[in-house]
Amino acid sequence: MMKRIYMDHSATTPVAPEVMEAMLPYFSEKFGNASSLHSFGLEARQALEASREKVAKLLGANPEEIIFTSGGTESDNLALKGIAYRNREIGSHIITSCIEHPAILETCRMLEKDGFDVTYLPVTNEGFVDLAALESAIRKDTILISIMHANNEIGTIQPLEEIGSLAAEKDIYFHTDAVQSVGKVPTDVDALGLDLLSLSAHKLYGPKGVGALYIRKGTRLNSIMQGGGHERGLRSGTENVAGVVGLARAADLARETMIQEAERLAELRDRLARLVLAKVKDAWINGSMKKRLPGNLNFGFRYVEGESLLLFLDSKGIGVSTGSACSSKKLEPSHVLLSLGLKPEECHGSLRISMGRSNTQDEVDFVAECIVEAVERFRSISALGR
Ligand SMILES: *Cc1c(COP(=O)(O)O)cnc(C)c1O
Repeated sequence: MMKRIYMDHSATTPVAPEVMEAMLPYFSEKFGNASSLHSFGLEARQALEASREKVAKLLGANPEEIIFTSGGTESDNLALKGIAYRNREIGSHIITSCIEHPAILETCRMLEKDGFDVTYLPVTNEGFVDLAALESAIRKDTILISIMHANNEIGTIQPLEEIGSLAAEKDIYFHTDAVQSVGKVPTDVDALGLDLLSLSAHKLYGPKGVGALYIRKGTRLNSIMQGGGHERGLRSGTENVAGVVGLARAADLARETMIQEAERLAELRDRLARLVLAKVKDAWINGSMKKRLPGNLNFGFRYVEGESLLLFLDSKGIGVSTGSACSSKKLEPSHVLLSLGLKPEECHGSLRISMGRSNTQDEVDFVAECIVEAVERFRSISALGR
C-alpha cells in the first residue's frame, strides 16, 4: 500500500500508543461502574478521580472543577445552555463570535429561539475578535461571553486574557471552546481569566467520544442531562471510565511534550507555507501568521476548487481538508472564511493543513510538491486559470 500522510489533525488525531495502553485494562479486568460500592466500583472511581487531577493539571485548575462529558460538542452545549437557563433571571444576553464551531453557533441559535438574545461579533481579516466591538456589545443583561481559543479552520488564537479581564470587570461569565488549543498551546484557566472551558480528547491524541468541561468553583449552571446525578449532578450517565483514563493520559503526554512539539510544528508549518508560496502565484494564507496554532495552515488559491485539490492530494495518500462549498453539506463556503471578508470564490480554493506528531520535514517537502503540482494542473485545465 502507498505510504499515507495525515495532515488533518484538526479533524481528529490517532490515539497515542501510551493512551491506548492506559485505557485497555478499563475495558476488561477493571470494568467496574464508578458508582458501585464494591471493590470493582472503587477501582473505577479511583481511576476517574486520578484522571480528573491530570486533566485539571493541564489547565491549572482544581480537580473538582472538571466535569467529564462525551466530547467537545457536549461540553459546549452544557456550558452555554447550563449558564443561560440557570441565570435567566439575571439576564438573557449572550456574546459570541461569528467564527465559532457549529457546537457553539447552533446552540446559540437554539437559545435565540428560546428567547435569549445573542450578539455574534465580527472578526478582523485575520480572524481576531475586535475588543472594542466586544466592549460595546456588553449590556446590563449580558450573562455570558463565549469566544473560542483557537479557530479550527484558520488556527487564529484569540486574545483571551484581554477578554477575560473585560468579562471579570463586568461580572460576566466567560467560556471558551478550547478544543483546538488544549495540549497545543498553554491553556491556564487563571491566566486566561476563564470561568468555563471545553475540551475534547480526540483532538489531542485521545479517544473519540470523551471530553471535559472546566467549571470555575462558584459558577452557577444547570445540567442539561437528567438522570442519576453523576459528575456532581452536572452530567448524569455512567462515566466512560476507559475514555476518561485515555483523556487523562493524553493530557499528561501533551503537558510533557507541548513546548518542544509546538516549536517543531511551527517550523514545519512555516516551511510548508514558504515552499508553496514561493512556487504558486495568486495564493495566500488565511488567518494570522503571528497568533496561530503551531501545526495549522490555511491556504487560499485563486482559480481552483479546494475539493479538486483535496481529491488530488488524497490520490497521493495525503489527507487534508478544505473550506470550499462542495465539501460541506450546506453547499456554502466556510462561515469562517466568509467572516474574514473573503469573497465566495476566494473561499472555494481553500486548503486546511493541520500537522501533528506523526509529520516530518520529508513529508512537508513532499506535500508542498504535490500541492504545487495540483494547483498548476487544475489551473491549466480550468477556464479561469492563468
Ligand atoms: C472538534 C471540535 C469540536 C467538537 O468536538 P467533538 O468532541 O468532536 O464533539 C468543538 N469545537 C471545536 C473548535 C472543534 O474543533
